[in-house]
Amino acid sequence: MKVGFQYLTNVSSSTRASDRQRCSNLYATSCATDPDIAPREAYSSEMLVDSFGRFHNYLRISLTERCNLRCQYCMPAKGVELTPKSELLSPDEIIRIANLFVTSGVDKIRLTGGEPTIRKDIEDICLHLSGLKGLKTLAMTTNGIVLSKKLPKLKECGLNALNISLDTLVPAKFEFMTRRKGHSKVMESIDAAVELGYNPVKVNCVIMRGMNDDEICNFVELTRQKPINVRFIEFMPFDGNVWNVKKLVPYAEMLDKVRQSYKGVERLQDHHTDTAKNFRIDGHVGTISFITSMTEHFCAGCNRLRLLADGNFKVCLFGPSEVSLREPIRAGVNDAGLKEIIGAAVKRKKAKHAGMFDIAKTANRPMIHIGG
Ligand code: SAM
Repeated sequence: MKVGFQYLTNVSSSTRASDRQRCSNLYATSCATDPDIAPREAYSSEMLVDSFGRFHNYLRISLTERCNLRCQYCMPAKGVELTPKSELLSPDEIIRIANLFVTSGVDKIRLTGGEPTIRKDIEDICLHLSGLKGLKTLAMTTNGIVLSKKLPKLKECGLNALNISLDTLVPAKFEFMTRRKGHSKVMESIDAAVELGYNPVKVNCVIMRGMNDDEICNFVELTRQKPINVRFIEFMPFDGNVWNVKKLVPYAEMLDKVRQSYKGVERLQDHHTDTAKNFRIDGHVGTISFITSMTEHFCAGCNRLRLLADGNFKVCLFGPSEVSLREPIRAGVNDAGLKEIIGAAVKRKKAKHAGMFDIAKTANRPMIHIGG
């Protein structure tokens, strides 16, 4: 099934609503029942349920292996080998796969990378995806370097949730950590997102000992006036990022630091699929969270699947196993065949990840390829 990507490129904003309608017509009518009136379970597919009964309603799509930053914890110092263009998913292939997931019960898609905003067709991709009937959340994780200018259009194209990565409030340290300039651009993007009404704007902050753990409370301070959710992420091991347990600042230690400086730090009720432990602080409009993948994993509630830019499908961020969807698609597989491949991979998903020391020893991809 093809969608007219060229047709949709450079369309004016006034025609976007009708394009979106056309797009949903093309892709959403494979649901036997009308999702507007049928309960979601009526068309949720077995394909998304693993052998532990976890239902996966959240697909993360890496749109590119390229990035305009070189963050030390993400991109290996020697760079990464880029997949030849012909072996990357085409926009049509991305939309076809996404549609298959959405008609099977996925209601949240996150676009990531590499850096998703460097794709020239990012607006068109958002427009197509947000038009998939049944999709409630179209989110993006971005470094914010070129986001502020693009955001109004991206919002118009259906992007309704946003995570912006920022690991330091010190411009010189930003340049050291990311091996590039651009701190003020990221700050601008956070403000632009707030102004455009994204609420909360999530700010992803990977904390590393000796690097930025002295800034935890400065980040907390940002939440006093801004409606943002700062998410302190434990440093995770991936290929080429020279992970070491000494650089990991455990959740308990981060929270302790916050509690020593702030009164009225209160745990919020989390959803069982939440990756974050969420807190509010008296008098702050924003909130803080901790992503504790290393010291208190949350695999039991995992609802996430990943599609990489080369078309490989990954059921666990830390699990090395991958299955290609691109190859069967190019060999002419139909949707039923593709669902079988996806369903079998989901059924092989393990109960939990192997633990940080084993993960650190196991070959996986560099994070820049997986996208978080
Ligand atoms: N380029 C985009 C960005 O910077 O947000 C999207 C891709 S990036 C791989 C997605 C997220 O993964 C970012 O928030 C980044 O901070 C996080 N990340 C990358 N490497 C990590 C690591 N080793 N441990 C924890 N988080 C990591």
